[in-house]
Amino acid sequence: MNTLLEHIISDCRQYTAQGHVATYIPELANVDPDQVGICISLDNGREYFAGDCQAQFTMQSVVKPLILLQALMDSGVDTIHSLVGVEATGKPFDTFNYSDQPLSRTNINPMINTGSIALCTLIHGATYRDRFGRLLELARKLAGNPQLTVNESVYQSEKLTGSKNRALAYLLTAYGMISDPVEEVLDCYFRACSISVTCRDLARIAHIFANHGAHPVTKEQLFPAEYAKYVNATLVTSGMYDGSGEFALNVGFPAKSGVGGGIMGVIPRRMGVGVFAPALDQRGNSVAGIKALEKLSRELDLSIY
Ligand code: GLN
Repeated sequence: MNTLLEHIISDCRQYTAQGHVATYIPELANVDPDQVGICISLDNGREYFAGDCQAQFTMQSVVKPLILLQALMDSGVDTIHSLVGVEATGKPFDTFNYSDQPLSRTNINPMINTGSIALCTLIHGATYRDRFGRLLELARKLAGNPQLTVNESVYQSEKLTGSKNRALAYLLTAYGMISDPVEEVLDCYFRACSISVTCRDLARIAHIFANHGAHPVTKEQLFPAEYAKYVNATLVTSGMYDGSGEFALNVGFPAKSGVGGGIMGVIPRRMGVGVFAPALDQRGNSVAGIKALEKLSRELDLSIY
């Protein structure tokens, strides 16, 4: 397996030249664009790695499935579903073009910024700092990594410059979809996006979603299978934003990307995959990361369709 992963990484490194690191969060512009890493988590704790698999990067939107999961665990399916729908938007992750239609649950989903910001209000906690603390604990537990923490400079950088997300949060307020103070809700969201991980952390988190909530080694049920299916379904339709259809065709399993360059791939009942390659395409998805997952899917016949 390691040999296969090495091949995939050396084949895919060339594609980093076709993308660009995110610059709208200034701190992300400092990342080396040529990195490519992969990790696979299989049953009984077997893990395989290749490339820049030790590199740390921020989760960014890869944290959205965890925000959804925490909100599901705290508030239940009906409450979640009444605030944020599940239909694909076919629009970019930070779209604010709702002017042709009133903002409502039917035109947002948990994997775009507006939906994810709204879901932060359904996570329990006395303060938004506490809500984030519970989210971080969840990430640590699923990754089996108590060291996970926030990259402070990326967090500060996004908090200072996140006007578009502020605009989205105020739109949610204007349409009566959230009522808590915007800065507090966003602080939870920005911190969550800035959790620093490696490919291995993503592979392990993905593996638990693939196992429908059961830990692949201890077999402990960490959250209800029903919630894993909810999250995985939203990843299929929207995890790669407006590139989700093409990804379903060429790769064929639930996945979530982030502008930090990470992608988490969930292969139900089989494995979890984490890739990292920070050069992004125009949609904000990792170019070499998608190529690596395409090759992996073809080699191991991973498409669920
Ligand atoms: N923190 C980023 C933002 O809100 C996450 C976006 C992404 O990874 N696509 O803009």
